[in-house]
Amino acid sequence: MKLDCSKHVFKIISEEAEIMGVRAYVIGGYVRDRILGRPSKDIDVVVEGDGPALARRVGARTGSHVAIFARFGTAMIHSEDGEEVEFVGARKESYSRDSRKPSVSRGTLRDDQLRRDFTINALSFSLQKEDMGEVYDPFNGLEDLRNGLIRTPLDPDTTFSDDPLRMVRAIRFATQLGFSIVPEALESIGRNRGRMAILSPERVSEELHKILMSPRPSVGFDLMDRTTLLELILPALSALKGVETQDGRGHKDNYRHTLQVVDNIVPHTDNLWLRWAALLHDIGKPATKRYEKGLGWTFHGHEVVGARMVYEVFKYLRMPLNEKMKYVQKLVLLHLRPIALVQEEVTDSAVRRLLFDAGDDIDDLMTLCEADITSKNDRTVARHLANFQLVRRKLQEVEEKDRIRNFQPPVTGEMIMQTYGIKPCREIGIIKECIKDAILDGRIPNDRDAALALMREKASELGLKESHDRYGFCANAEKLLSDA
Ligand code: ATP
Ligand code: MG
Repeated sequence: MKLDCSKHVFKIISEEAEIMGVRAYVIGGYVRDRILGRPSKDIDVVVEGDGPALARRVGARTGSHVAIFARFGTAMIHSEDGEEVEFVGARKESYSRDSRKPSVSRGTLRDDQLRRDFTINALSFSLQKEDMGEVYDPFNGLEDLRNGLIRTPLDPDTTFSDDPLRMVRAIRFATQLGFSIVPEALESIGRNRGRMAILSPERVSEELHKILMSPRPSVGFDLMDRTTLLELILPALSALKGVETQDGRGHKDNYRHTLQVVDNIVPHTDNLWLRWAALLHDIGKPATKRYEKGLGWTFHGHEVVGARMVYEVFKYLRMPLNEKMKYVQKLVLLHLRPIALVQEEVTDSAVRRLLFDAGDDIDDLMTLCEADITSKNDRTVARHLANFQLVRRKLQEVEEKDRIRNFQPPVTGEMIMQTYGIKPCREIGIIKECIKDAILDGRIPNDRDAALALMREKASELGLKESHDRYGFCANAEKLLSDA
């Protein structure tokens, strides 16, 4: 097989390699993706010789900045199409038991292909003038690519035990590409699960992100489950498995339900964190599960427990404990609210409260709730979706009228303290809460005058008196407002 190599940078690499008297090849993911017709943003070039030296010469010719990573023996330039082209000398690797970092020595193209994780990732093509674009495929990777198979070039026990990240990568590629892992490799993953202990959680979560961004993430989680990696990687998700029965009544399998919700949300969002929220929305269920006579199975407060568990999961996987995590927590916490709204009555006041609590994430919350409908009965699904359409319309109406989404209370704690000459205390919270409730309930409009009037009323009820500062002026709220 010969691939088209008309890309300018390939021609330059070929010429410069010839001058240096070394052989260069494109290898790995780029070759795989080119053949599959998938977009690919990084190009790996392996050189039988000094990789960074070749990069320097190519950079000088194309005018690209050359970044040298001395510690890794690699160098990077940008191609004319904006791809990152990374150069490295061909390597031979040997592993020790306690690390996924091998000791390396110089090797040939074949040595370098042997250290690759899968046959489809070991493909390379030549950049030599005489056979430019010719594919070098020592392990029948092309056939595996055609048949959609993930297979290791060496005995899978060796490949996986040397670097256990490859087990998670196998599952990720199977999910991303819709491929199957060959049975001997799948069995080997189960056998080598103990090796997961040497992996850093950051690397695992990167793979989880890619699984979540795949067309059907459930494939990946099911593979993790079948190979028993799931209970190591995401024990909280694994704990959702199974159905308990009492008095002949069972509950739904929250694990299957969760995976269905994740698959459901895929066509509606490319936001990784919204997909994480779908994955974690019910993780509070095992901890809150009760069987109540007459009622059946209940999961009271699972959204509150779940939001707390989001933190645990993020910490366990060393994911950022920042605003992304808070966003996921918020969606988990609020995921029952739109349903509750439909079940009671879609009043303006309830809608305002939901808008206030969800803020700008209201649309994402609705997307999550729609994905959360997983009944097997088409009519039930249609009824719920229609109800949510109604909620969405109502949300829009109320937002246009009252602008609650980015609602900032018109009277701040600072204003209350200055007006009444008081330090932080309980009364301030009471007044603020009272104003907020009055606005959300629609008893007063969302403006300053109304809010100030209510502040005075409530303050006098609480026995507060407006203060005069040392110049004898009344530091009232209107003055503060005009200063602001
Ligand atoms: P993607 O870029 O979509 O993550 P990729 O296959 O290009 O997929 P990279 O991490 O960019 O993955 O790695 C490039 C190539 O390096 C791979 O195709 C593979 O040949 C090799 N490789 C990467 N990680 C490993 C590993 N843990 N063990 C063996 N080879 C690996
Ligand atoms: Mg890549």
